[in-house]
Amino acid sequence: MTAILVVEDEQVIRELLCDNLEFDGFSPIAAATLADADKQLKSSQPEMILLDLNLPDGNGADRLKEWRKQGVKIPVIVCTIRDREIDIIKALDSGADDYVTKPFRIRELIARIKAVLRRTAKIEEQNRVKIGNLEVDFMARSAGCGDESVSFTTTEWQILEYLWKNRNQVLSREQIIEQIWGFADLEDSRAVDVHIGRLRRKLESSRSHENLQTVRGFGYCLKI
Ligand code: CA
Repeated sequence: MTAILVVEDEQVIRELLCDNLEFDGFSPIAAATLADADKQLKSSQPEMILLDLNLPDGNGADRLKEWRKQGVKIPVIVCTIRDREIDIIKALDSGADDYVTKPFRIRELIARIKAVLRRTAKIEEQNRVKIGNLEVDFMARSAGCGDESVSFTTTEWQILEYLWKNRNQVLSREQIIEQIWGFADLEDSRAVDVHIGRLRRKLESSRSHENLQTVRGFGYCLKI
């Protein structure tokens, strides 16, 4: 069940939202103030936030901006009575994924929640991939196997991403050089070999090095 934090100071609306979310199979967490929301964000680990803008202890958009700065990445839909364009733009600028204006139709809100969750799930799916046993997040530039993390240099990341995008295809040294360094110079093809060699050694800890294959006299191929 997807846990959704509902930040709304008006009790009637808060309860209406929570009841409807529960009916639709979500697990709502209620917060009446921004202070409450902060607390729940830490203790309940919601997967999404419905955020009112006018709250007794501050402005929702301003707090959202702070959350984003702190690294809160979960999707946020802003719910507001204000339909002035400037407020909507401010909310989206602060890091909201979508907005609804009050009085809202509850079915529309639920549809928007589902759409935002689908969208964010898809992005995560694309960014997090598996190369052998190694879990790789190209967006966050993090990689690891179980508890053990593997760190790559910027160039290694670029090469790995290029190989991943063209996985199961053989790429020549020249293609890799052109992609990473912007020019194809045969004299420099040794540099690619050095970088690939390092990359392969880093893949050894997760036993994923066999995925990175050398095609003798030609180039490399990432087999998935
Ligand atoms: Ca309010």
